[in-house]
Amino acid sequence: MGRIVQKFGGTSVGDLDRIRHVAGLVKREYDRGNQVAVVLSAMSGITNDLVGKVNSISPLHDTREYDAVVATGEQVTCGLMALALQSLGVPARSWMGWQVPIHTDDVHGKARITGVGTEGILSRFDEGQVAVVAGFQGIAPSGRITTLGRGGSDTTAVALAAALDADRCDIYTDVDGVYTTDPRIVPRAQKIDRITYEEMLEMASQGAKVLQTRAVELAMNQRVRLQVLSTFEDLPGTLVVDEEEIVEQQVVSGIAYSRDEAKVTLVGVDDQPGVAAGIFGPLSDASVNVDMIVQNVSGDGRRTDMTFTVGKTDKDRAVQILEGIRDTLEYGDLNVDPAVVKVSVIGVGMRSHAGVAKTMFQALSEKGINIQVISTSEIKISVLISEDYAELAIRALHTAYGLDAE
Ligand code: ASP
Ligand code: MG
Repeated sequence: MGRIVQKFGGTSVGDLDRIRHVAGLVKREYDRGNQVAVVLSAMSGITNDLVGKVNSISPLHDTREYDAVVATGEQVTCGLMALALQSLGVPARSWMGWQVPIHTDDVHGKARITGVGTEGILSRFDEGQVAVVAGFQGIAPSGRITTLGRGGSDTTAVALAAALDADRCDIYTDVDGVYTTDPRIVPRAQKIDRITYEEMLEMASQGAKVLQTRAVELAMNQRVRLQVLSTFEDLPGTLVVDEEEIVEQQVVSGIAYSRDEAKVTLVGVDDQPGVAAGIFGPLSDASVNVDMIVQNVSGDGRRTDMTFTVGKTDKDRAVQILEGIRDTLEYGDLNVDPAVVKVSVIGVGMRSHAGVAKTMFQALSEKGINIQVISTSEIKISVLISEDYAELAIRALHTAYGLDAE
């Protein structure tokens, strides 16, 4: 007998037929003698719709009431799933975040989980009951409903799996696993059988949409065995595991990309101590996330250029802040280019292999693609290029690292 958390996303519970189908997948694990907790999203489109309604009635809304509204999508799917399971003869009960309870901080709209109570669910497990748990929601110290930020039910599932000490956390979705890159761009992309937590974290934060970044972070810290698999096809998915569990490690495991970048250049800033702090301090105070940064050496030892990237949605705010400090910083021009894409090659094998960057730069140069900014970490190399070349670059890199399917 095992203990399993199964999480189903919005498309997996998108209508009543799908809810019945998912109930069958839950029953299958239950019939194998497992204790099962099911974590659900809202039906696809519902959360967007609720967010839209909140924004229409109050653009600068009270986030407590935003949470009260947007958390309702998950309540509906959980109640329906418990009923669907009961119709199949499986004892099941729905659990809202506050009933579990999923404790969070009080940052409404993007709360963090601070603890998960397990007593209630564990005693129902003993009675042979399946727990159907609302993803995405929790309860603040004040007793009010919170939500965890968009895509947050992945995080609910992982946190619950960790708290229940589950053997596995299966994330069911509309794709059958994690791919070497986006199969819509590279049809010869391959499903990855096993990927390390670190690689998955980079893939998720570099734009691969299969898992919420925070959920991967939590799985890595709590050593939760994650599996990403399809609701609609009965195929093995991708396992997210420790490095030791991977026998044949590729040097590069995958290629991710993000179109959510804008490039900002401050031309002619002083080349002296305190300038970087003077630029990035105010941006950080305004919660503008800065990603890649390059500062050139100055030819004359006095003036240099500073280039960095921010999220596209933060672009206007960043400009406003930089305009505000123009007089103190005395820079020349402020250039903003949103027509860029960040492409990253990712792999833990990079730690022990030379020449990974060379392969990347060569492949891009052979296609005549200009690299605007480069940044690296131990297991990732990212380049910023013009968005016109995004697909060409991704295809070329996929081939260059030998990732194309036969
Ligand atoms: N329903 C929420 C959303 O759409 C949470 C989730 O699906 O993970 O963001
Ligand atoms: Mg999701």
